[in-house]
Amino acid sequence: MSSTSKNLETTQNNETSTVTSVNMPEQISLDKWADSGFDWQGEVAPASFERLAKLLTSEHEQPKLNLDANLYRHNNVLHFAFKLTGNIWLTCQRCLQPVEIDLTDNYDIALLDDENQVRLIDNEQDYLLLNEIITEQIPERLLPLKKLIEDEILLKTPLAPKHDDCEMVVEQFGEIPEEEESENPFAALAALKGKL
Ligand SMILES: [Zn+2]
Repeated sequence: MSSTSKNLETTQNNETSTVTSVNMPEQISLDKWADSGFDWQGEVAPASFERLAKLLTSEHEQPKLNLDANLYRHNNVLHFAFKLTGNIWLTCQRCLQPVEIDLTDNYDIALLDDENQVRLIDNEQDYLLLNEIITEQIPERLLPLKKLIEDEILLKTPLAPKHDDCEMVVEQFGEIPEEEESENPFAALAALKGKL
């Protein structure tokens, strides 16, 4: 326990390179971008995420999500951060009409080389171990950008979406239990993501 964070070089986004591609890259080379920083901005169709696509309603248009993603180092730890702006449309489990779910949020995941780096990040910081998410090592280490984003979206997506003010008439079925807490099927994703 002799760790004092003496090096206060907050090297955040010192030389961020912007990648200009129209489609969000499925994965990016860590060898190429981990040091220089990486930035991608653009629009993504919700249905382009395969697992998410199965949950979307076909009864409503699915506007594109705005995404601003970047890779940066802080305290010598690599982070993958992104800001999502937009909504998806699912099916209300009470009235079966489309219901809008807001995904707008800032997400930030520390990508650790190993567990020793846990002490370099804040208690509240989400993290993943790089060797558990890297899909390829050779010829270069690839970070599955799109999968990481989809994981976060799925965690934010309610299992039983409902309108806040759903007007479905329920008298004939008697009382509907209020908001029973069911377990998110993607809870396993959260379990993968370390929490101190
Ligand atoms: Zn409803």
